[in-house]
Amino acid sequence: MNPFFVYMRVTMKSLVSVIGLGYVGLSTAVCLASRGIKTIGVEKDPNKLKAISSGHVPFHEERLPQMLNSTMKKGTFECTNQIHKAVEATRFSFITVGTPSKPNGEIDTGYVESACVELGEALKRKKVWHAVVVKSTVVPGTTEELIKHTLEASSSLKAGEDFGLAVNPEFLREGTAVYDTFHPDALVLGCSDRRTLREIKKLFQKFYRKLPSVIETSTTNAEFIKYSVNTFRAVQLSYLNTLANLSNVLPDSDVGDVVKGLATIMKLDNRYLRPGPGFGGSCLPKDTRALAAHMRKKGVDASVLESALSVNLKQSKVIVDMAEGLTNGLSGKRVAILGLSFKGNTDDVRESPSLNIISELLSRGAVVAAYDPKAMENTRRILGDKVLFSDRAKDCIKGTHCCIIATDWKEFQTLGPNDFRTSMKTPVVVDARRIFEPESFRNSGVLYRRLGTSR
Ligand code: NAD
Repeated sequence: MNPFFVYMRVTMKSLVSVIGLGYVGLSTAVCLASRGIKTIGVEKDPNKLKAISSGHVPFHEERLPQMLNSTMKKGTFECTNQIHKAVEATRFSFITVGTPSKPNGEIDTGYVESACVELGEALKRKKVWHAVVVKSTVVPGTTEELIKHTLEASSSLKAGEDFGLAVNPEFLREGTAVYDTFHPDALVLGCSDRRTLREIKKLFQKFYRKLPSVIETSTTNAEFIKYSVNTFRAVQLSYLNTLANLSNVLPDSDVGDVVKGLATIMKLDNRYLRPGPGFGGSCLPKDTRALAAHMRKKGVDASVLESALSVNLKQSKVIVDMAEGLTNGLSGKRVAILGLSFKGNTDDVRESPSLNIISELLSRGAVVAAYDPKAMENTRRILGDKVLFSDRAKDCIKGTHCCIIATDWKEFQTLGPNDFRTSMKTPVVVDARRIFEPESFRNSGVLYRRLGTSR
């Protein structure tokens, strides 16, 4: 598509530009706009820009489509592909472009750098103060060593004097992005100078009405806090999955009780205490690889993070081993996978454990049937005709020898033992997300096993 086809004019004086309208950028921009803060979104991908500017959210996120349409109608949100126009019309620029993994695990800062070159050139032409706020996840030191220099070189201005520079890492979770944007646990702010800190707090005061607790620190520490949180979650999940694997083989054990005890005594946040088929998505695996690579580069032993990653990769094999054990060998067997996204309530399949499970099943000679309420299109793009896609969960399990619950979509909880018993060739269910109560399968004629219990 000709990029000029979707060129959008900036029509209003606004307060914030958000550069990169992916999961983070679009959620942030639309939430700001919904509180009356005029916001301009900047997106380089012509197809995404075209979709967004016609009121369509290019990914699944609850509440966002309605909010996008109402903010566009109210005139508090508009979008463009022109960074300089957006910078000219606003006071703050949030950088929310992607920071994907390189093959060696480091993050690729290419999108951040090129956005900063354009941002700097726009700042050069601007006569009034402007602040650049880094929300993309970048390893500790990136703002000080790379972003600041790129902005200064392309603007011929000085960060902390002529323009403000801040790091405000993002903690929203896909699936609850809108709620999380309005209700953060805390705001982390690393600023180049006092004025920037003051101005950003004023902006957030306007947005939140009551400011959440603010952690004020250096730009490097702000970047580091984001990584420390995500890698802590990754280590914690690999640890929990290891406990679940032990519960699998201990007589009369259930990891659910163990985790409850652990969470109570250790006062842990129970949002990240669910054993399963491994962590996935666009953040935890990527951020853990990136911090590990950064540690190695700095001469620091990264084995705690490397172990978390290695346990995570093996977890899909644990699930497939459970299926293999219950079906007496998978070769030639038909296996249903319910759930393809990396967790419920999103269509994101980036590094989804379901994809690892499918590839393991295929390598053991199984035929795979798959269903997901929202992530079928994204999976089709990756797997093509390697699996048989069904339009409904009940169709997917028909005639299969085993069903693996791979994602915790609420919709799957509406299935009952009867559905499995009457549709499947051999009713065997491996519940990798622990969504069912084992009690309900007792004497049902279904061979039910859930991860993390031997009962
Ligand atoms: P994404 O890939 O979904 O979106 C990034 C967008 O930026 C894309 O649409 C891309 O076309 C656009 N883009 C790239 N360069 C651009 C430029 N120069 N100008 C305008 N647009 C440009 O990424 P995401 O998942 O939203 O993540 C963004 C950042 O936030 C990453 O660093 C990620 O690690 C971090 N993060 C993500 C999440 C999450 O749940 N997805 C949560 C917290 C933090």
